[in-house]
Amino acid sequence: LSSSLKDALKKIAGKTVVDRAAVEELVRSLQRALLQADVNVKLVMHLSQSIKRRALEEEPPKGMNLREHVLRIVYQELVALMGGAGKVDLSQQTILMAGLQGSGKTTTTAKLARYFQRKGLKVGVICADTFRPGAYKQLSTLCAKVNVPIFGDPTEKDALLIVREGIKRFAETEVVIIDTQGRHALEDDLIQEIIDINEIAKPEHRWLVIDAALGQQAAEQARRFNEAIEIDGVLITKMDGTAKGGGALSAVSETKSGIVFIGAGETIDDLERFDPDGFISRLLGMGDLKALAERAEEVMADEEMDVNAMLRGKFTLRDMYKQLETVNKMGPLKQVMSMLPLGGMQIPDDAYDVTSTKMERYKVVMDSMTSAELDDPQIISGSRVHRISRGAGVAPEDVRELLKYYRVMQRALKGMRGSKFSMQRMMKRFGKTQ
Ligand code: GDP
Ligand code: MG
Repeated sequence: LSSSLKDALKKIAGKTVVDRAAVEELVRSLQRALLQADVNVKLVMHLSQSIKRRALEEEPPKGMNLREHVLRIVYQELVALMGGAGKVDLSQQTILMAGLQGSGKTTTTAKLARYFQRKGLKVGVICADTFRPGAYKQLSTLCAKVNVPIFGDPTEKDALLIVREGIKRFAETEVVIIDTQGRHALEDDLIQEIIDINEIAKPEHRWLVIDAALGQQAAEQARRFNEAIEIDGVLITKMDGTAKGGGALSAVSETKSGIVFIGAGETIDDLERFDPDGFISRLLGMGDLKALAERAEEVMADEEMDVNAMLRGKFTLRDMYKQLETVNKMGPLKQVMSMLPLGGMQIPDDAYDVTSTKMERYKVVMDSMTSAELDDPQIISGSRVHRISRGAGVAPEDVRELLKYYRVMQRALKGMRGSKFSMQRMMKRFGKTQ
């Protein structure tokens, strides 16, 4: 299945002109992949429409071709679907955990305690689950492993009393996490209890724990908890299983919050900050979308280089190669170079002629150089030229040509002394001359 999405992406990536049919095929296979990963139908439809509309209506930004433009849109819309990463403070705060029984609240409470402890914060947890037998023991066992103090009372039935006492006990503690009870279904007394706990504890954060396998019920759960206590972050647990967690995205959209953490395992260290790219890859069963989109972003990036700083420092062969790579993405080198403020410098015509084949050859040559040579090409004498050419399997002339090109670039840089050189400004001009 995800292979059809891969094919559709590849097809787009191989096109110079993107037509409606190609966009529609891509969107259709994207829909299939998302629905299979349990993403809610409405969310999928909304996403499809945005992608189609943007891909067909928006002008590609200058310097970006159509297919890069479409890939970037697909990626951006997927990231938007994730709701972005929820906010996690590393300061004084109380966090209230909400969710159904079995969703992973208690485990995650301990994982979070560990997370904040590792960030150097003083942490305490309150066990406000007075419903499930053994709840206190479960949490205290987990917390004992990492030396996090826990407040609770396995004989007390009044959760509100425990929270009141616990808040007092942890008055000097920086991060306080409150684990609450959950039940199999959302019962009214559970909801009332968490409303009351919220009023007593006045937590900075109210996080909802969702099992990755929850699927379509996630939306309803999230809506009810959100109405009760205004959820500001979603935690998805059991991502180490087979479920892809697409259902949890409904919780994000219902609560208009973001995903804060991902739980992926039963041990206390199996907690990760949410990363949209990783999540998207998993959701779609493929890993290269980000790379495709990134390439597009790279071309766009405003690589503002302070040329003076570069001249004060050293311009090495490595720097040159990096520059060539960037410039090569932007079009024929000659056109690009002709827009550089070269301070009246004359550049020999053949210096422009750096095709990608030549760049490949330069790379091979550079691979045969030592670090010292790459950092300081001045030291490359005649005998070194021969050694390098033998190592690279090229003629000595090829090595000399590379060195000549390097010196031309170095002089060109000197010619630019004092000017601020911005890729973006350059690209704007490039756009106009096309
Ligand atoms: P609670 O009822 O919401 O407090 O849920 P628990 O924290 O007691 O977790 C229920 C079960 O899910 C336990 O067996 C946990 O070990 C397990 N669990 C929780 N989080 C994860 C996870 O990220 N991965 C896996 N594989 N199991 C988890
Ligand atoms: Mg529990």
